[in-house]
Amino acid sequence: MPVALLPPFTRSMARDLTAVPLNSGPRYVRGPASSRWHRVRAGVQRTDRTTWDLWCGPFMQQRDDRPIRTADHLDPGEQVCGTCVGRALGAGQDDVPAGMPGLVFSPRWLNPPKLCPGSGSEQLIGPRPESSHRSVGVCLACGDLVGVRCMGRRYDTRVGLTSHEPGAGLLPACPFHSWQYVVLRPSGRAGCTCGWHDELTGRAR
Ligand SMILES: [Zn+2]
Ligand SMILES: [Zn+2]
Ligand SMILES: [Zn+2]
Repeated sequence: MPVALLPPFTRSMARDLTAVPLNSGPRYVRGPASSRWHRVRAGVQRTDRTTWDLWCGPFMQQRDDRPIRTADHLDPGEQVCGTCVGRALGAGQDDVPAGMPGLVFSPRWLNPPKLCPGSGSEQLIGPRPESSHRSVGVCLACGDLVGVRCMGRRYDTRVGLTSHEPGAGLLPACPFHSWQYVVLRPSGRAGCTCGWHDELTGRAR
């Protein structure tokens, strides 16, 4: 049985638009040159290959000409990467076996941001409700009504949303970049600068 995978977050903005994040994948993988099994943190399907991100850092490319072995369970005596197992169990990908102390590993991007990505933004100030005071606006990233204040210095009239916790309407995380690069998209909505949310609204229509 496959295990749940985490989103394939990356710092790279070079994104292949055919890349599809995978929600589940094999528990263990092993490439032709691997000295031990590894565990899969995230996966991306492309037209010609599947990429498995490993918990210990590197990734493996699965292509027809380069088979990757997969397994749900390992036989006694087989070797598995300790970094991968510790992180996978600590992050909650599998239950920690009975009798083992609790393992803790918290990838930073598992949690929603403490600060809404609209905080400080001039672009993401939505329309001001007619009845409300001048110095508030809708945050396009989370939908909350948020204070607007001058951010610049004396002769700089730039305004921005005040720092705030994300509202209930926070846009979903980009599976590749979390909420790190949320900007105003040509659609007039907030979205990741890589364009992932644009496709989302396109599909929803
Ligand atoms: Zn590993
Ligand atoms: Zn917000
Ligand atoms: Zn993105």
